[in-house]
Amino acid sequence: MKTLRLHGPGDLRLHEEPVPVPGAGESMLRVTAVGICGSDLHWFNEAGIGDAHLEKPLVLGHEFTALTEDGVRVAVDPSIPCGECEFCLEGNPNFCAKLIFAGHGEQDGALRERIAWPKRCLFPLSDAISDPAGVMLEPLGIAIHAVDLAHLRVGMSVGVFGCGPIGLLILQLVQLAGANKVFATDILPHRVEAARALGADVASLVGDGLGVRELAISDGRGLDVVFEAAGENNAVEMAVAAARPGGKVILVGIPSDDRTSFTASIARRKGLTFKLVRRMKLTYPRAIRLVESGFAVAARREGLKVIIAP
Ligand SMILES: [Zn+2]
Ligand SMILES: [Zn+2]
Repeated sequence: MKTLRLHGPGDLRLHEEPVPVPGAGESMLRVTAVGICGSDLHWFNEAGIGDAHLEKPLVLGHEFTALTEDGVRVAVDPSIPCGECEFCLEGNPNFCAKLIFAGHGEQDGALRERIAWPKRCLFPLSDAISDPAGVMLEPLGIAIHAVDLAHLRVGMSVGVFGCGPIGLLILQLVQLAGANKVFATDILPHRVEAARALGADVASLVGDGLGVRELAISDGRGLDVVFEAAGENNAVEMAVAAARPGGKVILVGIPSDDRTSFTASIARRKGLTFKLVRRMKLTYPRAIRLVESGFAVAARREGLKVIIAP
């Protein structure tokens, strides 16, 4: 079968490899669609992400749909938690000490024709969810988890700084959750356009004359919650500046240089709460229900998400 492996920064090679053999409790899958995530781009560009580095040639890809041997279309949860450690047992499998994740570290991901994966991590898809939409379930799960962490209340004002695929999903979810005003930013005009089309009250290009920060604090109050989904310290700094005293900043983005910084005095005087998003916890079933009920995932928008059909 054809397998795409990352050998070093920018060095992807197509190999012919034997088909994997499913272990106990695993299903043999034919991969039908794989989404390319910002974290895959970190691996591709830097041969690592944060403090994880490429140890051996790795197959990337963790957002994917597949077909089982019985012909069932499934979305695949890329996380395999152990289910037994303290963190799994307390309901936080995203903190599992022995977590295995597709396309990360030792575990090959989905950019290949076949993959063996635990049956407990497979979610059958109804016809209401296409393969490209199915690929968006993982990023949608992350976005749901991020919004969960914010404990949004109806009528709150919200910022979404960074409108890539995850930011745009968060933008839609906070409106569902009852946000009053939503302020969105990005450095790319087509993403700002997408944010506006998806209902942001204010969508501005970072660097525009009137920034979101000025708008958000124009009433002297600031935003209740700001999601930083750019992975850039500029966006973190802007989130700190735009949050209201006592507000929350949810850090979703992954910085390239593995450092997050902001002006301490501003954050301290406001007594801000920071939360960091670690993958997606148990959100897959909710993500599936949402998409089945007509929630629009942004997959079909050109230039926002790359999807590969192996
Ligand atoms: Zn991802
Ligand atoms: Zn565990």
